[in-house]
Amino acid sequence: MAQLSPLLKQATPVLVDRGEGVHVFDESGRRYLDFTAGIGVTSTGHCHPRVVRAAQEQVGKLIHGQYTTVMHRPLLTLCERLGEVLPEGLDSLFFVNSGSEAVEAALRLARHATGRPNVVVFQGSFHGRTMGAASLTTSGTRFRSGFAPIMGGVHVAPFPYAYHYGWDERTATEFALRELDYLFATACSPADTAAFFVEPVLGEGGYVPANREFLAGLRERAERHGILLVADEVQTGFGRTGRFWGLDHFGVRPDVVVTAKGLASGFPLSAIAAPRELMNKAWPGSQGGTYGGNAVACAAALATLDVIKDEGLVENAAAMGQRLIEGARSVAREHAVIGDVRGLGLMVGSEFTTPDGKPDTATAQRAQREAAARGLLLLMCGAWMNVVRMIPALVVDAEQVDEAVQIWSDSVKAAVA
Ligand code: PMP
Repeated sequence: MAQLSPLLKQATPVLVDRGEGVHVFDESGRRYLDFTAGIGVTSTGHCHPRVVRAAQEQVGKLIHGQYTTVMHRPLLTLCERLGEVLPEGLDSLFFVNSGSEAVEAALRLARHATGRPNVVVFQGSFHGRTMGAASLTTSGTRFRSGFAPIMGGVHVAPFPYAYHYGWDERTATEFALRELDYLFATACSPADTAAFFVEPVLGEGGYVPANREFLAGLRERAERHGILLVADEVQTGFGRTGRFWGLDHFGVRPDVVVTAKGLASGFPLSAIAAPRELMNKAWPGSQGGTYGGNAVACAAALATLDVIKDEGLVENAAAMGQRLIEGARSVAREHAVIGDVRGLGLMVGSEFTTPDGKPDTATAQRAQREAAARGLLLLMCGAWMNVVRMIPALVVDAEQVDEAVQIWSDSVKAAVA
C-alpha cells in the first residue's frame, strides 16, 4: 500500500475533517482553534459561505479556462478589483498558483527587465522552495542544504533583527544598511543588481517586522542605482498585518508586489503586480503556466475581496492583532523562557530563549505540542524553530483571541514544568 512520503513534516497530529471560521474539526468531531490558518491562507476563515458559494457557482460554469489559450471573465474582473487595492502605479498583473511560483515570476521579470544578474535578499527571509525561490531563501539551511548548486547571483545582506543581535532597533537598522553598502562596495556592484527581495515582516524567519528607516533605506538605494524593490507580501498581504499590505505600515513604495496565500481563501492562486512599463520590458510569453489564474480560484479571490471589505477584516486584523500581542506579552511576562514577543497585526511570534540567551527550541516545541493537545493549533518558525507563531484567520473575534491566550498560558506553564 502506498503511503505519504516521509519528506513531509507535519506540525500537528491532527487529521482534519472540516473547517468553519477559525475552527477545524478532526474525524472524531473534536474542535480545534486554528491559529495557523493553513499557514496564513484562509484569510476569511475556513469555508466562508460567500467564498464557498462563489466557488460552487464558478465550478458549474467553467473550471479551467487556460489563460494563454482563452481568456475568462473572473480573471479580468480580478485584475480590475486588485487594481483598487494595489499600491499606486502597480497596474499590471500576472497570475500563477503558489507563492514560490510568483517569486520565480518576479525574479525572472526583474532580471529580464533590468538586464542585470544579481539579486539582494535579507538574512532570515523565506521566499519559497522551488529552485529559484529557494536560492533567495535564508530562513534556515534546511531549505538549501543538500540541494547545491543553487542559483547564482544571490547576495545576502543583514535584516534588522534587533532581538537576535541584542541591539535596539536603531542600531540593528544602521548595521543592516551599512552592511548593505559594504556588500555593494565589495562583492555585488549595485550596477549589476536587478532587485531587492524583502518581506515587510520576516515570516518563516521568525516573525520579525521590518521598520520604516530600513525600508526607506532600501527605497533610496533602489532609486539611486536603478534597482527594483520587490515586496514579498505572500504572508503579509491581504490584510494580515492590519493594513492591506505589510508595506503600508512603513510608507514605502514597492516596484513589484508578490501576493499569494490570503488572496483566495485557500484556493491556489498567486500574482505579481508591477507597472505596465516594467512588464513591457520582458517579452510576451516569457511567463505563463498551465493552471495560472484558475477560474474557480479567481472567483474565490473576488469573494475574498468582497468579504474583506464588507466585514471590515483589515480593521479587525489590526484590533484583534493588538489584543493577541498584548495577551502573548502577558504570558511572556510570567515566563522568562519567552525572551521576545513581536509581530504586526495577526502575525504574532513568541521567541523562546535559554537563560544565557540561546535559542530554546525544545521548550518552544513542547509549548506548541501542549497547545495542540489543549485544542489550539500553532506553528513554529525562526532559524532555530524556536519561535511559536500565531496567525489566525482575519475573522477571529475577541472571545476566540482570549480563549487562545488562555490555552497558550496553560501550555507554556505545562512546557516549563
Ligand atoms: N514567500 C513568503 C513570504 C512565504 O511566507 C511563503 C510561504 N510560506 C512563500 C513565499 C512561498 O509560498 P508557497 O508555499 O505558496 O510556494
